[in-house]
Parts: sequence; structure tokens; C-alpha cells
Amino acid sequence: MSAGRFAPSPTGAQHLGNARTYLLAYWSAKKAKAKLVLRIEDVDSPRVKPWASQQAIDDLRWLSLDWDEGPDMGGPHEPYVQTERVQLYRDALQTLIRTDRVFPCTCTRKDIQSAGSAPHFDHEPAVYPGFCAGWKQGDPLPEEGTYCWRFRAGDQSREFHDLVLGYRECIPANALGAFPVTQKSGEPSYQLAVVVDDAAMGVTEVVRGNDLIASTFRQIELYSALGLNIPQFAHVPLVCGADGRRLAKRHGDTRLSLYRERGVSPMKIIRWAAISAGLIDEHTNVENIDSVIEYFDWGKLPKQDTCVDTDAFQ
Ligand code: GLU
Repeated sequence: MSAGRFAPSPTGAQHLGNARTYLLAYWSAKKAKAKLVLRIEDVDSPRVKPWASQQAIDDLRWLSLDWDEGPDMGGPHEPYVQTERVQLYRDALQTLIRTDRVFPCTCTRKDIQSAGSAPHFDHEPAVYPGFCAGWKQGDPLPEEGTYCWRFRAGDQSREFHDLVLGYRECIPANALGAFPVTQKSGEPSYQLAVVVDDAAMGVTEVVRGNDLIASTFRQIELYSALGLNIPQFAHVPLVCGADGRRLAKRHGDTRLSLYRERGVSPMKIIRWAAISAGLIDEHTNVENIDSVIEYFDWGKLPKQDTCVDTDAFQ
């Protein structure tokens, strides 16, 4: 059976842009009669906020988004929580170590920034210069806590067909360089956790913002190295303020929790999401979230970012 997923990071509040991504994931999954999984991506511990997981769940429920599957922890609609699944990520790391796909790296961000080559993707770190890449299996490990494990990105071209953006291709070793699969604390990184989880949960369609395309190539490398099935990807346009810049505090408060408190109707957001994604027009009658399913088609989505007048939601 096919499956989609909602994957909020509880590092802060969920905003208008997140809402649209979740709604698109929902409409696509419902149209395909796929199941939906909710997974809280809380492995990035220094940035995780204690209140943000429950708030994200409340935001999803407020938007009438529902999911089908969770682990057996008291109810069918409990979310998966990544910090409860760390052993799975550790096992995957052991596989990568055993198969010589990773090396321990003690470089600092500054080392990489000053010696690495320019990134090929926007908003990405410099391409890793390879200082620690000479490590071989059996060589001593650096002191605990001083190194992360870094994946040796391959020099074969990788490609995928994005449901929104079409054909994408890059050579990971050149465009991305070796990338971390753990933090220096030993915690698994987002890249590793997301691949292990999407595979374990049978996710066949990943819907997320188009700022994660570089990560998708990293993840395709990991799927291959771990012998896992690669899902389909839909990288959706980001939401920008009226000035064309990525939605941020300067555009006013677009937290879904604030709209909820102020009594904004979730239908207002559902309609805006469907119209701005090109699924319906202003005249389409939308009674509830499920009225949009019949209009859903990835081919309708614009490729460019969406500007929104945030005052319209106040
Ligand atoms: N947890 C990530 C976020 O909220 C999404 C990652 C993904 O969809 O793979 O930005």
C-alpha cells in the first residue's frame, strides 16, 4: 500500500507554509487512497522546543488533517516520535560503518567554510574539503564527542523525477560532498533518521518544501547504501511574504497556533492553500478539506514560490 506522511520538526511553531505542505500531502494521499503517517522529527535536540510537538499536533487537527498510522502506544492515531526510534538509526549507522560508507570527521564548521568549495545549491554549506576522508576501517577513532560520522557521497550521477519540478540530477560528490549522518554528540542526523523512517514506515511519497532538494540527493545516496526503496518526491514551492522573501517574522505572525487562538477559520487557510497551489479557483465551492481531493493533481502546481499577503489572515 502506498503512504504519505506529515513530518513536523518541533523546533518552533508551524506556520502558513507548513500548513500548505501538509494539506498537499493530505490531498495527494487521499486521492491515491494511500495511508498517512505522522512523525515528529525531534532528533535535532538543541533546537527542539518542549511545547512544539503537541502544538504541531493541535495545528494539524485544527486543519482537519488526520493520519492513519502510529506505533502501538495507546491509540491508532498516536504519532511516531523519532527520539523513541534512535536504535533503528544506530543500526543503520553500523551498517554504513561496516560497509565503509562513512568516516569519522573532526572538522569544525569553520574548517569547512574556509577550505570547502562553493555549494551548488542555494542555502547549503560549503562542499566538504575531504580533510578526514582518508580514514579507513580499522584506523583508530578520534576521542568520543569530537567527531561526527560523514557519508562518502558518490561520484556517480543521481537522478529523480520530482512530481512538481520534473527531472533533477546531480553528482553528489561534486555538488554536495561528504555529509554528516550524525552530530558530534553521536546523535543521528536528520538525513539518516528520515531515510530509515520513511523506509520503515513504507512511505512512498515524500511531500516537502523545495528548500530540501539538496537533502533529497543526500537521502537517495543513503537509500542506495542501505539497500532501501526510494520513495517519490514532491518538492512544493515555498511561501513568501508580499515582498517576495521567504516567510519570516518580518512578515507578521503567521503561526497557525495564533490563528487558532484568534478564531480564524481553518477553512480560510484550506481555501488559500488550494487556490495558491493552483488546484481550484476563487469560485470553486469548497465545503471542507475533503472537497479539494477531486481537484488534486501535481501537474497543477506552480514551480515558483508563492507570495502571500499575510494581512489577509489577521
Ligand atoms: N521535518 C522537516 C521540516 O519540518 C521536514 C523533513 C522532510 O519532510 O523530510 O522541515
